[in-house]
Amino acid sequence: MAKATTTIRQSLNYQSQLADCFAANHALFNRVVTFYFEVIQAHETVLDLSTKRALTALETLTHATGKNRAPVMPLTEIAQDVPAMFRRAAINAALGSARSFYSALKKWRTRREKAEAEKARKGKKQKFTERPPVPPRTWNKSVPFYAGQWKERTGSSILLKVWTGTCWSWIKVRTLGRDLPDGVEMGSPSLVRRGKQWWLHTPLEKKFSSPAKIDQQVTTNAQTRICAVDLNLDTHLAVCTVQTVEGTILATRFIGHGREISGFRKQQLGCIARNRAKTGIIGEGEQDNADLWCKIKQVDEQIAHLVSARIVQFAQEQGATILVFEHLGNLKPEKGKYSRRGNSKRAFWMKGRIFTYAKYKAWNEKIITSRVNPRNTSRECHRCHYPVIRYNAGQPMEGYTPGAPLVLCEHCSMQGHADRNASLVIGQRLIARSQEPLKEKPQAPVRRAGRESKDAGVVLSQDAKRESRPSPDDARHGDGNGHGTAQERRRRMGTPSSAIPHQLRLPLE
Ligand SMILES: [Zn+2]
Repeated sequence: MAKATTTIRQSLNYQSQLADCFAANHALFNRVVTFYFEVIQAHETVLDLSTKRALTALETLTHATGKNRAPVMPLTEIAQDVPAMFRRAAINAALGSARSFYSALKKWRTRREKAEAEKARKGKKQKFTERPPVPPRTWNKSVPFYAGQWKERTGSSILLKVWTGTCWSWIKVRTLGRDLPDGVEMGSPSLVRRGKQWWLHTPLEKKFSSPAKIDQQVTTNAQTRICAVDLNLDTHLAVCTVQTVEGTILATRFIGHGREISGFRKQQLGCIARNRAKTGIIGEGEQDNADLWCKIKQVDEQIAHLVSARIVQFAQEQGATILVFEHLGNLKPEKGKYSRRGNSKRAFWMKGRIFTYAKYKAWNEKIITSRVNPRNTSRECHRCHYPVIRYNAGQPMEGYTPGAPLVLCEHCSMQGHADRNASLVIGQRLIARSQEPLKEKPQAPVRRAGRESKDAGVVLSQDAKRESRPSPDDARHGDGNGHGTAQERRRRMGTPSSAIPHQLRLPLE
């Protein structure tokens, strides 16, 4: 079984004085979490235990019972009558924070040791200046309501047990927004503050039978539909194409307005740069451009959600079961003004975010996401895999102009949109990789050639054995039977010997 989790967020409708109760409850919870974090710091060994055992150990240290009359660090010193489930929620929150803090600390210590060993060995004078991680100074954890802390949940209301500042009491709140869907398992709701408003967040877990692995889907069913995505943040945000394993192209969608967004972001970054120039040096902790940064962040986040949702929607509409992107590669910041550099950096992050969001959104729809090698995806013809000419409309069809919208393949006279071509190549790479896993690896072309002939069950032509780039003449001679989808399909099935030189070219580039 596979599972997918989502969170539904419901805004709450309550009398205004209740906001103070929620705030008091929130403050108490964070006080208890802080307390437990300190207990853990005093007894670091509890972190070696499993979460369940650590919880028991921490309760023994802090909570008095009939058997355990005098705990070492009683919780009652900071709060009386804390309900057991409230306490446990706090312990788990503290444990989570402590685990992440101590693992960061451990990593830092390892880095320091390594740097010092290096220093001793090479006699370097450089000191290890990186600061150690610090434990959280302030706490702002949302309060989860474990079973027993909430009851009588309906589509429009819920009763929550809350510390009002003076006592524990059951408070009824009306919930707005989405209803809870059927067939899902509900987790503990938590009370979350967003600005001045309090919300109820409920994690939902959906269980379903796991979809088949990519290799399996590709090798067993030639009708498997693959949605390939080329992210291009300068012009179109994303170009998606759906094709079957045997090579039929079914649909294309452009998800747009990249240039406008990039323009907006660049403009804002420009504003920040100008503000900085005015104030001179940026003071420590100075918040002069906070509003602008916030705006950029919000817009980026919103776009990443929007684009990823549209990609998944398209894949779903087209019945695709696999979603494929390119790997991000390395960030190569552009040269230029601050706004330009910053813009390209943010565009890079955005690609990563779109991938991450699309991945989990797709998984909720039982679509598997993968990534392929990004090398030269836009320089290759999706039909015959020859290098393409990339040009701007109205300009001579020659050379390769990066970022230009049109492509032409001189070899098979394929003509079309550059990003769409790239997207098709991305999809084909995934198919090729799943069918012949060795193909993406650049070593041992001789052995691979042998393998290919065995798998495809055809006699190798001279071209394939020669291992070098076939000259256009050779290839043309072999391709005498026309181009297009029909040929494409045969190539995927691995039949015509004339196609082999092109396949061989892939790793040799
Ligand atoms: Zn071509």
